[in-house]
Amino acid sequence: MSLRTFLARVEEKGEILRIKEEVSTNFEIPYIMKAFDANGPILLFENVEGTKTKIVANVCGTRKRICEALNVEPEGLYQKLLEAWRNPLKPKIIEDGAVKEVVEEPDLLRIPILTHFERDAGPYITSAVVHAKSLDGTIENVSIHRLQLLDERHLAIRLVPRHLYKLWQMAKEAEVDLDVAISVGVHPAVMLAASSPVPFGVNEFEVANTLLSGKLQLVKCKYVDAYAPADAELVLEGRISASKEVPEGPLVDITGTYDIERKQPVVEVVNVMRRGEYIYQALLPSGAEHRLLMGLPHEAAIYEAVSRVVPKVKAVNLSVGGGGWLHAIISIEKQLDGDGKNALLAAFAAHPSLKHAVVVDTDIDVFNMADVEWAIATRFQAAEDLIIIKNVRGSTLDSSANQETGLTSKMGLDATKPLTKPAEKFERARIPASRRVEELTRKLLGH
Ligand code: MN
Repeated sequence: MSLRTFLARVEEKGEILRIKEEVSTNFEIPYIMKAFDANGPILLFENVEGTKTKIVANVCGTRKRICEALNVEPEGLYQKLLEAWRNPLKPKIIEDGAVKEVVEEPDLLRIPILTHFERDAGPYITSAVVHAKSLDGTIENVSIHRLQLLDERHLAIRLVPRHLYKLWQMAKEAEVDLDVAISVGVHPAVMLAASSPVPFGVNEFEVANTLLSGKLQLVKCKYVDAYAPADAELVLEGRISASKEVPEGPLVDITGTYDIERKQPVVEVVNVMRRGEYIYQALLPSGAEHRLLMGLPHEAAIYEAVSRVVPKVKAVNLSVGGGGWLHAIISIEKQLDGDGKNALLAAFAAHPSLKHAVVVDTDIDVFNMADVEWAIATRFQAAEDLIIIKNVRGSTLDSSANQETGLTSKMGLDATKPLTKPAEKFERARIPASRRVEELTRKLLGH
């Protein structure tokens, strides 16, 4: 259950494009990744300037591939994630794994880390899954963090105040560095679990193990007290400093704008484990893969939360234009006027970074923005159907918010039909047609 077994599976379906021309990690690979972004194939760069290491990109770039990775039909995706969150299962810890093929002194400059955008602070690892434990060992956490390359042995890690930040704070209070295992090149299920909004205290490796039907295996790091998937491509063993911070950023993040520079802690890398010929996994910030990995688990969380306040949620879309993160469109079957607003409140609670949300009826396609706009145009009255919440915690990635405090304003639009007016006022008008005219029209259209 590794990245490689997944790549072999999708290769058979012709979903991998191999790039044999020599390209550089400095802008060239990111430029090609961006050009292939929308619904694109997996890209395997086989000839990377200055290294023998191959680079794989866009692994989880489509909803279809994510479903393939989890062995689930699109309709069952949220349920599969929700069940795994509720039923975490301890992975087996083994002595030896493919990732232990080579164990060596760290030299981060030999890893083909990409420099993505024009004004980025430098090369960044963007696909890393970070595992850490509380000092007493009772709490474990796995999450994805961007890591800025500083030198042969050091990285800066962005810690948004969430779970790993909390563990680091706890270590800081005890005046010790926090041990971490930084894994690159893992099965998509591990990536999705790591970006799932499960409560503090739930070990996301256990969620991944449930998603993989109990087949995830971990190895213990050699020098630090942390764990990594036994079949990862590359693992950096490190310690997040309790005292040393450096300016981190700017870096383009999920919105496609530059996130600001902040003081963030330094990770000292003390050991490297890797496969002999490891594949380095790249992930384009603000690309489709980034939006899906961060967004999909939060769609599931919104789906679950809104399902508690209305009997039926049809679909949730953290939209492309909202960076897969800031905008949600939710279609519901409402019973009473006011259900739409309760749905909005539930969505905001389920996904704290959510900024704007629109609730529509089930006849509206949440993935079709013209359809959503039509619902707002014909079913929404700002004086009655709009909620604004001021000074609330949102995303620090939003350029218009206070990016230091994370304080923002949120807006919810209830664009469901009011039940006080006759339903036919909101009907989408159709033109009746006989089978003959339907067929004739299809022929004229060339279908
Ligand atoms: Mn967590």
